[in-house]
Amino acid sequence: NKSLVWFRRDLRAYDHASLHHALTSSAQVYCVFVYDTTMLEQLARDDRRVSFIHASIAALDAGLREMGGALIVRHADAVEAIPALAAGLGVDAVFTNNDYEPGAIARDLEVAARLEADGRAFHSYKDQVIFEKDEVLTLAGKPFPVFTPYKNAWLKRLAAHPDSLAPFAVEPYASQFAAPPDSSPLPSLAQLGFDPVDTHVATGMDGAAAIFDGFLERIEHYAAARDYPAVAGTSGLSVHLRFGTISIRHLVRTVQAMLGYGGGGAGAPAWLSELVWREFYAMILFRHPHVGERSFKPAYDAIEWESGPAADALFAAWCDGRTGYPLVDAAMAQINQTGFMHNRLRMVTASFLVKDLGIDWRWGERYFARKLIDYEMASNTGGWQWAASTGCDAQPYFRIFNPVTQSERFDPDGDFIRRYVPQLASMSRREIHAPWLHERKGAARGYPAPVVAHDEARKKTLARFDVVKAAV
Ligand code: FAD
Repeated sequence: NKSLVWFRRDLRAYDHASLHHALTSSAQVYCVFVYDTTMLEQLARDDRRVSFIHASIAALDAGLREMGGALIVRHADAVEAIPALAAGLGVDAVFTNNDYEPGAIARDLEVAARLEADGRAFHSYKDQVIFEKDEVLTLAGKPFPVFTPYKNAWLKRLAAHPDSLAPFAVEPYASQFAAPPDSSPLPSLAQLGFDPVDTHVATGMDGAAAIFDGFLERIEHYAAARDYPAVAGTSGLSVHLRFGTISIRHLVRTVQAMLGYGGGGAGAPAWLSELVWREFYAMILFRHPHVGERSFKPAYDAIEWESGPAADALFAAWCDGRTGYPLVDAAMAQINQTGFMHNRLRMVTASFLVKDLGIDWRWGERYFARKLIDYEMASNTGGWQWAASTGCDAQPYFRIFNPVTQSERFDPDGDFIRRYVPQLASMSRREIHAPWLHERKGAARGYPAPVVAHDEARKKTLARFDVVKAAV
C-alpha cells in the first residue's frame, strides 16, 4: 500500500505524527507541500511569512532527502491539488496533522470528502499541541473558560499520561520513503509571485534548534527578563511553533527533564506556562470558533467603537507608529520593520488601540495578522480579546494600561525606544517616556505630540464599557 503525507504547519522531518503513522503503516510513502493559492492570493508580495516558509521548505526537502525521501511541491488550490495528486500517485490514503482554525477545518473536511468519494482514506493526527480539542476538560466535562484551572488540569493530565510527550520517530522507518515521481526543482519565490524578504529569524529545523539551544542557556532568567523588550529575555520560538519547524513534544520534554532535576530556576515553569497558554487559546478557538470574529463574551458585542475619518486617522497613526507615545511607537516600528513584536508590547499596543483610541480590537487583530511572522489565529485573537477585555479570562475592562507608566516600568532606560525611534535618541532616561512633559522637548525633533490625552481617553473608555457593566 502507498500513502501521501501532506505537510502544512509541521515543516520538520523528525518527531512528526502523521509522517510516523504513514511510514509505519505503508510500504511506500510520498510527501507533499502545497503553496495554497487560496491563502497566498490574500497576501502582499513582500509577505515575510512566505520567505520563512520558502526557506523552511528547502530545509525540509533536504532533511527528507537525507533519509531517501523528498518533497513534492505544488502551487495550487489544496482542495483540488491533494485529491488530484493522490489519484495520480495511486495512494490508498492521505496522512496529515490536525489544524484547529475554522477555515482549515472546513478545507480538510472538503479534501477528506473528495478523497473518500474516490475510495481513498484521510487520516489526521494531533501533532502541534500536547493536548487538543476536549482532552483537557472541567470535572463537569466542559471546556475551561479560565486559564489557571485549565493549566492545572493540563499538568495533571500530563503527569497521568507521560506518553503524550513520546516522540513520533521517523528515521528508523526511512526505508519506506518512495522516490518522488518527478525531480523538478522546488519553485523559487519569484515563481510563486513573491519577493524575498528578511525574516529576521533563523529558518527551518536547524534554525529552530539553534534558537532553542541559545534559549536554554538563558532560560533560568526567563521569569525575570521576559517583560523587558530591550533584552533578549524570551525564546523567540513563536514562528517555529507556528510552522512546526520545532516539535512541541521536544520542547516540553526538555523543560520537564529540567524541572525533574531542579534546573532552569523560576524560568522553566514560567516558560512551560506560556506553552500552555498557546494550547489554551488553540482549545478556545476550536471550541468557540466565533472568537475569530466576535467577542468571546457576547454582551461585549454591544460596545460602540469609534468610526469615521477621525478614527481612521488615529488608526493610521497607530499603524505607522506616530501616536506620540514613545513605547507604543517603538513597538509599532518593531512589528513594521521586523515582523515581530515583544509580548509586553503586544499587550501595550493592543490596549492603547482599544482603550486609548477607542478603536475596535478587530482592526488591530487584522493589522497584526498581516504583519506578524508568527501570526496564529488562536493566539492573536486570544491576545487581542484579552487586551480588549472582550475575551475569556481577559483583563477586566476597567484596568487600563497607562502607556507612560508601562514605558517607565518595562523600558526603564529607554533603550528599546531609542533603538526604534531615532528622533528620541538624545533624550535622557527620565525624559524619553513622555517627551512632551519636558523642557528639552525640542530635542525630540520631528517626533509627534500625543494624538490623545491618556486621562481623557481613560474616562471615555470607562463610559464606552458601561454597556457591559451588567454582564461583568
Ligand atoms: P516566549 O515568551 O518564549 O514563549 C514561548 C512560546 O509560548 C511562544 O513562542 C508562544 O508559542 C507561546 N506563548 C507565549 N505567550 C503566549 C500567549 N500570551 N498566548 C499564546 N501563546 C503564547 N503569539 C503567537 O504565536 N502568534 C500571534 O499571532 C500572537 N498574537 C498576539 C497578540 C496579542 C495582542 C498578544 C498580547 C499576544 C500575542 N501572541 C501571539 C502571544 C505572544 O505575544 C507571543 O507568542 C510571544 O511574544 C512570542 O515570543 P517568544 O516566542 O519569544 O515567546
